[in-house]
Amino acid sequence: MPETGLRFQCQPGCIRCCDVRGFVYLSESDLVRAAEYTGLTPAAFEAKYVYRTKHLRRLRKPADRQCPFLEQGGCSIHPAKPTQCRLFPFWPELVADRGLWNDAGRRCPGIGQGELIQIGTAIEIASEMERAYPTFYGLD
Ligand code: SF4
Ligand code: SF4
Repeated sequence: MPETGLRFQCQPGCIRCCDVRGFVYLSESDLVRAAEYTGLTPAAFEAKYVYRTKHLRRLRKPADRQCPFLEQGGCSIHPAKPTQCRLFPFWPELVADRGLWNDAGRRCPGIGQGELIQIGTAIEIASEMERAYPTFYGLD
């Protein structure tokens, strides 16, 4: 019988998902939390690190890596990292599609590891993404 849940356990020392080509988006509260963690005001943090469009905020990319907070040892704002980083790979599109989940597993060695997480729990975790980034999920 196929499994009715998903397995994931982030692997110590791994930073692969931080180095995948793409953007890191922030909710308004992500921005405030990261600013506080870095000791900056939200306005100063935004001026230094954030590119804002009409509906979205994303981290500016340095020339040599995908994220300004990615360092050799990992994420330098780990306790305050943005929602999409904190929840990966529990993103609605991955949780809803076993094929996409397995594809992500080719880049993320934590996928397929650890205890079985029931699909309902995985969907509940992923729903935070929809609340954080309503523009992406057609809710805004
Ligand atoms: S790629 Fe997967 S295992 Fe590696 S840091 Fe990211 S979530 Fe963790
Ligand atoms: S904010 Fe941290 S966890 Fe997110 S991509 Fe950058 S280095 Fe990785």
